[in-house]
This record gives sequence, structure tokens and C-alpha cells, in this order.
Amino acid sequence: MTVRTVLQQADITRALTRISHEILESNRGVSDLVILGIPTRGVALARRIAETIERIEPGTGESIVGSLDVTMYRDDLSRNPTRAPSPTSLPGPIDGKTVVLVDDVLFSGRTIRAALDALSDLGRPRVVRLAVLVDRGHRELPIRADFVGKNLPSAASERINVRLTEVDGDEYVTIDSP
Ligand code: 5GP
Ligand code: MG
Repeated sequence: MTVRTVLQQADITRALTRISHEILESNRGVSDLVILGIPTRGVALARRIAETIERIEPGTGESIVGSLDVTMYRDDLSRNPTRAPSPTSLPGPIDGKTVVLVDDVLFSGRTIRAALDALSDLGRPRVVRLAVLVDRGHRELPIRADFVGKNLPSAASERINVRLTEVDGDEYVTIDSP
């Protein structure tokens, strides 16, 4: 197997800082913003983006970050029945809010489709945006990211290995080729 490092810790930090600025710019500030991470690593990324946003533009002091479990909304649930759900936790009502979904890797788009389904059971945001650390291509649905850390065109046989301090104890992104 060939392992190629594509992002080091400093690159990840820089990308998340840029994305935080881009979110603030497109939302014209922090008002009505809700940042929702998709477990597992999306939640760690969402927390960092929310912290950065609150550092750049201190809001009301109320939390803007949460997590959105999409397990029960997946269209491949019958193929992967053992996947354990993780909790959904919202910082408050999402009606009328700008919701930014956050995930580590965007691939087929099916996880985000499931996330949109899960969201619509929780309320009606004004807009929903998508932020991902890595877009590796291979979409199977008409879904795109609004905020991208790094575009990494990949072969279907490759795997993007995302390691984050909070989850893995170390931090980098590699492309692993068989
Ligand atoms: P999709 O649903 O778009 O096919 O895949 C995205 C979801 O699967 C994300 O939650 C992501 O964590 C995971 N995923 C898909 N492909 C990869 C990959 O190459 N590397 C990693 N780390 N996660 C992936
Ligand atoms: Mg995931």
C-alpha cells in the first residue's frame, strides 16, 4: 500500500480557519448560525469551526454548535445494519436558521442526502450549507460542498485517511492507495 500525506496538522488548522471566515462572510456574521457536525469526525471539525467563528466574531455567548446523527436516514441501512446510532444534539431550534453541515470527507453524497432528510424532521432552516475538510469526488447525487478544505481527486480504490487529535490522538490526512 502507498501512503501519501496530503495535509499536515498546520494545513488542517489553516483550512478550518479559512472555512470559518468564509462561513462568516457568506452569512454576514454570526447571527442565526448553527454549525452541525456529522459523527464522528465531522463533530470535532464542527466544534473547531464554531470556536474559530466565536473567536473572530463573539456572538451572544450561546452555543452555535451541535451534532446530527444520520444513521437511521441512510439509504444503505439494510446493507449495514450494525452501524450504531450516535446522538443528535442541537444548540436550539433550527427553524429560520442558517445551518452549516460539517463532515470530514465528501464522497458519493449519500451521507449528506441522509443529513438533509434528518434535518427536515427537526425543523425548517432558512438555508442549509455544507462544509467538508476533503472533497474526494465520485458523487452519485446532485450534492456539492459550499466550503471545502481541500479538493483531492481520488481513484475509487483509494481511501482518504483523516486523523484528528480529538478522535485519533494525532492529526493528518493521507491518501492510501492499494
Ligand atoms: P458519502 O456518503 O459521501 O459516500 O461518504 C461520506 C461519508 O463517508 C463521510 O461521513 C465520511 O466520513 C465517509 N467517507 C467516505 N469516503 C471516505 C474516505 O475516503 N475517507 C474517510 N475518512 N471517510 C470517508
Ligand atoms: Mg463520516
